[in-house]
Amino acid sequence: MVLKFDLIIIGSGPAGSASAMTAAKAGLSVALLDKSAFPRDKLCGGAVTGRAARYMDEIFGLAPDSDLFLEADRVRLAFRGQAITCQDNFPPFQMTMRQAFDARLHHLAITAGAQVFAPVRITALDPETAQVTLADGRRMQATLIIGADGANSLVARAIFGRAFDPARIGFGLEVELDRNQFSDTTTEIDLGAANWGYGWVFPKHKSVTLGVFGIHARNSDMKTHFNRYLARHVPDMAAAGPVRCKGAFLPFGTYRKTPGAGRVLLAGDAAGLVDPITGEGIGWAMRSGQFAGQAAVAALAAGRPDTALTTYQRHLTCVHREIDAARRIRALIYARPVRAIFPRAVAHNPSMSRTYLRLLAGELDYADLGTRVLFRLARRLGGSLLRRQTA
Ligand SMILES: Cc1cc2nc3c(=O)[nH]c(=O)nc-3n(C[C@H](O)[C@H](O)[C@H](O)COP(=O)(O)OP(=O)(O)OC[C@H]3O[C@@H](n4cnc5c(N)ncnc54)[C@H](O)[C@@H]3O)c2cc1C
Repeated sequence: MVLKFDLIIIGSGPAGSASAMTAAKAGLSVALLDKSAFPRDKLCGGAVTGRAARYMDEIFGLAPDSDLFLEADRVRLAFRGQAITCQDNFPPFQMTMRQAFDARLHHLAITAGAQVFAPVRITALDPETAQVTLADGRRMQATLIIGADGANSLVARAIFGRAFDPARIGFGLEVELDRNQFSDTTTEIDLGAANWGYGWVFPKHKSVTLGVFGIHARNSDMKTHFNRYLARHVPDMAAAGPVRCKGAFLPFGTYRKTPGAGRVLLAGDAAGLVDPITGEGIGWAMRSGQFAGQAAVAALAAGRPDTALTTYQRHLTCVHREIDAARRIRALIYARPVRAIFPRAVAHNPSMSRTYLRLLAGELDYADLGTRVLFRLARRLGGSLLRRQTA
């Protein structure tokens, strides 16, 4: 027997749950599949920006309550352990534990009417017929499929042959530590902790997440970067021997220009929708999941499932524009010759430091800011360097 649905969504992170919530609320029959039962863990700093919080409210009707979130409005910017600036009353990050956060979104999608299949193992996926076969022999078919199964997406592999470009993917290592191990739990971003990336200390209610990330191909020694960063913050622990950290890939500036194929749409990390400067992906995962769900609803209402992908791609233009704008700026922050100059420029220019922190907090859009920031940075870093790095 084949189980039939309007929509099969593979993966129930922020992207998949947002798709499920949107489509189920609009009356579609939705199957929401995940390889894990919830609550499940997800490697992540857990920083939810202002922009992401707005999407969360719009899609799930969920406000950042103090059960799930810790508000952090004091932020330190550092470079190789030296504080550059420390700002209070900064547009806040909402710090959350992904295990609880994702479980909440997953639950809200179920409440909206999505039918959950988890844990499941998918053994076959046919993008042409939108059919999915599970390891237990069950078969499912839908009019449309949304692949929201993360950076290492099985769905992206099924339609494009691979989930990501290994030369451009990002990689992060992190550990969850007891708050008591830290004398200072200020939120920190250290721009010198890894190449084309940064180190972070993100406080939570009971713990602190410490990690480093950057472009994988430019950090063959990420473990060394991690150990060095850990030693700066928790020297006793680092000295006591190797610490077990966990690693995961994240897209970092390369998105899929066509986010799917035929009757299959990709959302969130599976579509490469992560900020190429900050590594923030939760907000755009929810936003793209919502857009994919809306595109499915419109295409099915019109009796034209073949139009879902073009509608979705059109909705995503605003996100793609942001990623493109951020990519143009990021060489001026992370490229080797300017790496040490950017933090100094930020340290000596309060307005630039505020602008950078507001970008991190998702309070400013890159697309609106691009020209102004490029102009200011160009003055500091030299026109010839700018031309070389943005070419
Ligand atoms: C180290 C690190 C730190 C990060 N820190 C931050 C941060 O602080 N703030 C931020 O905004 N972003 C951060 N990100 C990025 C963020 O985690 C992702 O962008 C976000 O989780 C993307 O959501 P998603 O729903 O697309 O995918 P995911 O959250 O990865 O969810 C994918 C879901 O698909 C399921 N799945 C996977 N494969 C299958 C399969 N074959 N079959 C069925 N189900 C499957 C998984 O179980 C999972 O539930 C970080 C990423 C990393 C790696």
